[in-house]
Order: sequence, then structure tokens, then C-alpha cells
Amino acid sequence: MKALPRRLSRRYRGRFPGFCTGLLILRQIRYSNLMSDKTFPLTKTRLEELAGQYPTPFYLYDEKAIRTNVKKLLKAFSVFPSYREHFAVKALPNPFILKILAAEGLGADCSSGPELTLADMAGIKGEEIMFSSNETPASEYRAARKLGAVINLDDITHIEYLEKHAGIPELISCRYNPGPLKGGNAIIGEPKEAKYGFTREQIIRGLALLRDKGARRFALHTMVASNKLNLDYHLETARILFELVVEIKNKTGICAEFVNLGGGVGIPYRPEEEALDWDDLAGGIKKLYDSILVPAGLGTLGIHTEYGRPVTGPCGWLVARAIHTKSVYRQYIGLDSCMADLMRPALYGAYHHITVAGKENAPLTETYDVVGSLCENNDKFAVQRRLPKIDAGDTGDLVIIHDAGAHGRAMGFNYNGKLRCGELLLRSDGSVVQIRRPETAEDYFATLNLAALAGFETG
Ligand SMILES: *Cc1c(COP(=O)(O)O)cnc(C)c1O
Repeated sequence: MKALPRRLSRRYRGRFPGFCTGLLILRQIRYSNLMSDKTFPLTKTRLEELAGQYPTPFYLYDEKAIRTNVKKLLKAFSVFPSYREHFAVKALPNPFILKILAAEGLGADCSSGPELTLADMAGIKGEEIMFSSNETPASEYRAARKLGAVINLDDITHIEYLEKHAGIPELISCRYNPGPLKGGNAIIGEPKEAKYGFTREQIIRGLALLRDKGARRFALHTMVASNKLNLDYHLETARILFELVVEIKNKTGICAEFVNLGGGVGIPYRPEEEALDWDDLAGGIKKLYDSILVPAGLGTLGIHTEYGRPVTGPCGWLVARAIHTKSVYRQYIGLDSCMADLMRPALYGAYHHITVAGKENAPLTETYDVVGSLCENNDKFAVQRRLPKIDAGDTGDLVIIHDAGAHGRAMGFNYNGKLRCGELLLRSDGSVVQIRRPETAEDYFATLNLAALAGFETG
């Protein structure tokens, strides 16, 4: 019963939406009476032990799960003559994680000076780093050049800007914005509202200009999707880029060395959703590669990606303690965390699955809003969520927020004087390392000019 609807719904989702909605509803009915099959790597006892040592809230990342995931990704994409994944540093900007990823063979995708420094700290060097920035200041172009990173230009005017401030490197990449695609594109829509990238005409002119200015090796990049689980979306991105590579060869004689398909692969935040399979993704792209590039004499083109979310997202959790319950017009569970630690639910209304340590198999008898302490009513990790009965207080239940390993701690902020939590790494041998301590009040005040405060005259 379980495997069939999953496979069917994946295959037919695009073509028979009604039928597939039916299958999804069937699956939701099946799931609604059960706890999720989403997992957490520690028992309640071990988690309580950790919470004794490192006060909640904290993020926990699972090294073994990250490594297993990366191995699968690299194996799937080994069908190409060359492949490199530049992990999007913005998703999980911690050098311990980057070091693990580098040990598995990944590079980094950066878009700011500090992200370049993080990649450097993790020993990721030269062309292993892709610098996909936009509205880039001169100092960051210089920093990228100094590290030998592959600079991915976002606009045609940046050719002269880069030349003036940092010089044109031998290898250069340009980001493509397909804009209003010819005749429209049913899958991708119209990315013309996206601020990123060159138009088709600009990219052809820009590459020729870069060649005139001394560049010798070329790459193309595009990214038009975010958090998309639909395979067709990603295949369409590859097709658009492959066709562009052929057109550029025909019009300018420039043979790109590689294309970078960007990020945008989604993860199944909801238990009834299904992960995009790395083999399906790489296999689908390979078919397009063989039918578009190989006949055009471009059969050695390298494939690069900048996946962030699907690499570490499912391998991280935010753990917080339920410290209060409140019963007014609704039932509330108050956590010792807030949207300063994880803002996706408040920002996008994003779903993050929640389980309760030790109550994984308990019946879902309650309906709660699970909330944080910010003075913003949208500071809710879950709204009207079916959950087991949660005990709150000093020794209240530990609440586990799933799929927080990407764009989680990274998006945190200090509004309302909230201090962001720390990060723990569960090593492959079962030991735990604190890879970032929680913020302190001193951190919060560190940027204030306190030396001038005492003598500050206000009349
Ligand atoms: C955000 C971003 C990524 C990573 O996206 P994910 O959804 O985390 O995979 C990759 N490339 C660029 C240019 C980005 O802006």
C-alpha cells in the first residue's frame, strides 16, 4: 500500500493532478493517525543527557547521515565525465560541517566575504570554490580572486567592474536568467522577475567580451527554482542551460568547460512528501546531456551544482524544551527557543515536522500552536498541529523540530534582544562536539560603542 501510491504519485503528479491529489489525500489519511516516519538519531535518555551538558535550545547535526547522503549524491552524478558539488555555504555556514563535506569531496558556493573565509577555514581551495554573488562590492571580488575561486558574474556591467577592481581571471562563469522563455515554459514559468543573471543576448555578448579581455576558460550558471521537489523542474533547468551552451558554441565558438545547475532541490518537509531521488535526478540530466550536448560535440562538458538544502537539511534538528503551556482560545506550547533560532515557519509559513522525545509513538490527541518567545505573533513553529500531549516546565518535554539542517541557524537574527542558540555535531562514532556555543549578552553588545556611552552628552 505504501510503495505503490508513492511511486505513482511521483510519476503522474505533473500529468494527472487530480488523480495525484487523490493519492496524496489517501496517503495523508494513512499518516494522520500515525506518528511520522521522520527519524531522530538519539534516544530520549541520551538527549536528556546532552541537554544536561548543553542547555537547550540547540541544533544537532548528524555527521553519519550527512556523509551517507553526500556519498549517494556523488555516486549518482558519477555518470558525467566530471562533476563537482559546491555546497551552498549559506545553508549551513559552519566550518566543521564544511570540513566534513570537503573530506567527502565537496567544494563550496559562497556569496560574501565571510562565506569565502569559512570555505578557506575548512581547507576548500581555488576552483573548488564558486563565488555566486550579486551586487558584489569590489572588496569581495578581490577576496574571491585572491583565493582563486571561480567568479560567477551576475550582470554584464560587472565585466568592466571586475576588470577595474580585481582583473579578469582565466576562468570565468556567467549567470543566465532565461527570462520570458520562448513561448512561455509550463514548468518553470517566467523568471523575468528574478533579479539574477544576464539575458540571453547579454550572455552571448558578455562571453565574447570576456574572451577579448583575456579570459580563456568559461562556465555558465543558472538557478531559477527554490525548494522544488518536482523532478521536471530541475530537468528543465538543465535543458535550458545545455541548449544555451550549444547556441554559444555556434555563435561565438566558445566551448564552455562546465555548467553549474545551481541549487533549488527541495526536501520533503512534510511526512507525506517524498524526497527527490539523486539517481532519478542525475539520470534524467544525463539523458538530456546525451541528446543535446553529445551530438553537438560537447560531450566533455562538466556538471557542477550548488545544492545546500538537500545535502544537510534532513540531517539537522532544532531541539528545544517545552517550558510553558497556555490555554486561552487555543492551546499553546511555549518553547525556550524562538524564531531567532529558526525563522522559516514565521517567514514563509514553512512546515517543519515536530516530534516529542520519548513520545514518538504516542497518539496525537492534542491540537497545539507551538510558539517561541518573540513579541511577534507569527513566532510560531507550528500552528494548530496535532501532537501528543506535551508536558511543560523546568523538566518539560524536549521538542524536536525536524529538517532544520539547512537555512535554519543560518537565518537567525537578534531582534527583540534574542540570543541565537549553539550547534552540536553528533560524530559518526556517537560522540558529540559543540561546534558553536550559544550567543551571550556580551556578543549582543559587542558592536556598541560602549566606551563613548558614559561621556555621551544629551544636554
Ligand atoms: C541559495 C542558493 C543555493 C542553494 O540553494 P538550496 O535551496 O539550499 O539548495 C545555491 N546557489 C545560489 C546562487 C543560491 O542563491
